[in-house]
Amino acid sequence: MQGMPWFRWDATRAGVLLAVVGLGATASVGAQTMSYRLHYAKAGEAFIHVSLVPSTPLPAPRVLVVPRAIPMGYGEAPYDESIEELHAFDSSGAPLSVSRDDGPRWRLGNEGEAVARVEYQVNLARMERAILAASDASRVRRDYLSLLGYSVCAYIDGLDTAAIRLEVEGPPGWPVLTTLAPADTSAAPRRASAGDYYALADSQVVMGPGMHVRRIESAVPLTVVVYAEAEADVDSVAELAGVALRRAAAYFGTVPFSHYTVIQEFLKPVSPAHRYGFSMEHLDSSTFYLSADTAVSSGSSPADRRRTLYNYAHHISHAWIPKRAYGEGYYPFTWELTPVVDSIWFSEGFVQYAAIEAVAAGEADPAEYRRLMLATRFAEPLATMPEFLRQMPLVQLSRVASTRYSEDFRTGRSSFARGGLMAAALDDRIRERTAGARSLRDVFRHLMAWSAEHRRAFRIEELPVLVESATSVDTRDVFEHWLGPMPARR
Ligand SMILES: [Zn+2]
Repeated sequence: MQGMPWFRWDATRAGVLLAVVGLGATASVGAQTMSYRLHYAKAGEAFIHVSLVPSTPLPAPRVLVVPRAIPMGYGEAPYDESIEELHAFDSSGAPLSVSRDDGPRWRLGNEGEAVARVEYQVNLARMERAILAASDASRVRRDYLSLLGYSVCAYIDGLDTAAIRLEVEGPPGWPVLTTLAPADTSAAPRRASAGDYYALADSQVVMGPGMHVRRIESAVPLTVVVYAEAEADVDSVAELAGVALRRAAAYFGTVPFSHYTVIQEFLKPVSPAHRYGFSMEHLDSSTFYLSADTAVSSGSSPADRRRTLYNYAHHISHAWIPKRAYGEGYYPFTWELTPVVDSIWFSEGFVQYAAIEAVAAGEADPAEYRRLMLATRFAEPLATMPEFLRQMPLVQLSRVASTRYSEDFRTGRSSFARGGLMAAALDDRIRERTAGARSLRDVFRHLMAWSAEHRRAFRIEELPVLVESATSVDTRDVFEHWLGPMPARR
């Protein structure tokens, strides 16, 4: 039922308003700009070179930090262990002292010196072996390389709000794409800029003749990159990503980014211990990792198509929530130590409910789609969840899931399932009290506007107030009910 006209840019039909809103004010630190250069010199090499040059040399000593925490990763990855050959230089090119501090930190130079350049390499083969979650690792293949910004870009402590310039270069002839400026994939050095370190760290770079690139006019220009270590239906993947973005944009009403990139990898497992299937959302992109044996079927049968469409819609919806409307702990982000977050049930549960509603609107039977998704994603997993997890108040559960969401997926699943059912209960209440004139969609739209205006995290106790100002419906008791322990099983 979804022929090509569905994918044409049609703002009126989708009811989409374009409103480009940046993330935070990103006040630069003085006029300081940090220039990053990522260079993958030769196909077959296991590492990339990174150089970091401040626009003005920085009085030493300075501290270089390599992230261990991942925004929305709810866990830690030891990226510092893949750093090799770390050197610092002054403006004459003379080497400065480099010493390891506690944590993922290096001390650069001494009193009276100035840091003009930092260089290091990142061993991607070691990183992929050490990090078992495929979604958290960068990787290199004979004809392909993919980099997660936070896994390879370090920053100078205290300068994470400085503006960023990025240059990326691959082996001669390799196409190169950065999600900061995805329209161009020619082989020449790619250049892009970012408002601050967060925007750089949450971007990705892919390159190599092994990647397939598709461009689709969706709610905004969409670039889809597929790398597959098996036969894969690249056009189906791209088509479904386009539908997902269009439906999410229609649900939220405004699009707070000017382009979007989906990167889908189908990978042969590196070892039996490595985990595939998790995806990761970013500011203007999302990254999806499946094992190669699912590549052929992805998007082909009706069940696969349904699963893939929902998965894209879910992760794309995160570009709205919590990337641009968030509870405390999401932004500003603590890169060295994963933050403890009170509102995962909102960021993961409410957003999945939004994705269900967004996808449902384009399905033949929206009510049936919603019923099926609420049952399979939320209600059924909770019915069999251990009692001690059901009895945890929701904020406490969220704090526990903050550091082990996917490692012990019971904590992640319980958080989003309870949040998803809370969102459904709120939506039912709002529709009932307004005779269908308002819904939770109005709350999401109000929250997006509120966040763009206030540029800060909301506090949990502000949520019922936001619901009421968007819909005039009092939902305090619904929040209270769902934030408490679940009823004991009989
Ligand atoms: Zn999610």
